[in-house]
Amino acid sequence: MSSPSALSSEALAAIAKARTKAELEAIELEYLGRKSGRISSLLSGIGKLDPAERAKLGQAANEAKRAIEAGLAARQAEIESARLADIAETEAIDITFPGPPLGRGHIHVLTQVRRQIETVLESLGYQVELGPEVETEWYNFEALNLTAGHPARENWDSFYFTPELLLRAHNSPVQIRAMQRIKEPPIYIITPGRCYRRDAPEATRLPYFSQVEGLAVDHALTVGDMKGTLLYMIQSLYGKARKVRVRPSYFPFTEPSFEFDVTCGICNGMGCKSCRHKGWLEVGGCGMVHPQVLRNGGIDPTRWNGYAWGFGIERMAMLKHDVDDIRLFYESDLRFLEQF
Ligand SMILES: [Zn+2]
Repeated sequence: MSSPSALSSEALAAIAKARTKAELEAIELEYLGRKSGRISSLLSGIGKLDPAERAKLGQAANEAKRAIEAGLAARQAEIESARLADIAETEAIDITFPGPPLGRGHIHVLTQVRRQIETVLESLGYQVELGPEVETEWYNFEALNLTAGHPARENWDSFYFTPELLLRAHNSPVQIRAMQRIKEPPIYIITPGRCYRRDAPEATRLPYFSQVEGLAVDHALTVGDMKGTLLYMIQSLYGKARKVRVRPSYFPFTEPSFEFDVTCGICNGMGCKSCRHKGWLEVGGCGMVHPQVLRNGGIDPTRWNGYAWGFGIERMAMLKHDVDDIRLFYESDLRFLEQF
């Protein structure tokens, strides 16, 4: 049988060769295991020895055990530090290395269309005018001839904060504010921005949407001036092949009032499935500004007159890109947005 010191030399040699934590654990079990470890086994016959021998063997066994334990701990530390050094070398972050390329985004299709409309009308001398999205009852309704109890108000079902304050249901309040601010015509403005109505989301409407409205106030403007301006805008956006038309309609804030249509871009006005075989698509409303609306804006209707129009930006984008569901613009689905 090996002596304790021979066993500890043998164990230390094995420890020096070990490369992994698992190998060290196997060595520990082999030599220091409580039941079948080789040091323990050495002591199994110790009861038969005389007391002096017994003490000597016990002491030698304890020394061997401590030497093996110290050897295991030292080698374990070496293996661990080698592992960390290895990680530091192979997985180190080189901060000078270029990062992965970032996908390049682009401007949302509705913003693109809004900017195109602005660019075209600015080239005609119109200025962009903005106003608050939270409006008073007076600016949103009263000043536009939509007095309390007026049946047309049903079409502008609104979100109220108080009986006096609401989310604007259209961008027309900005026209009143612009007239009050500018005071002396000529006035040529467009009012792009968000508005809100109590409509359930569906393919053609949403409770929030974007409008761009236009207002011109000058001397002796005519329906022809308005139609010519809108024709120029439509052809700039959709191409020279498009035609426009106005159809008599009714709005409380214009007199006369019109629906404004543009020829279908798919069939060029011949009629197809997309335009329900009409050849024409509705874009929005327009008309000559009602004298009382001018008065509410502080403009004298005996000296000046004007025309105005209001189109949905989503609607204009749908016509431009043949999109058939308005909700797609707000779902933030990249498969849709990346097409534009
Ligand atoms: Zn068509």
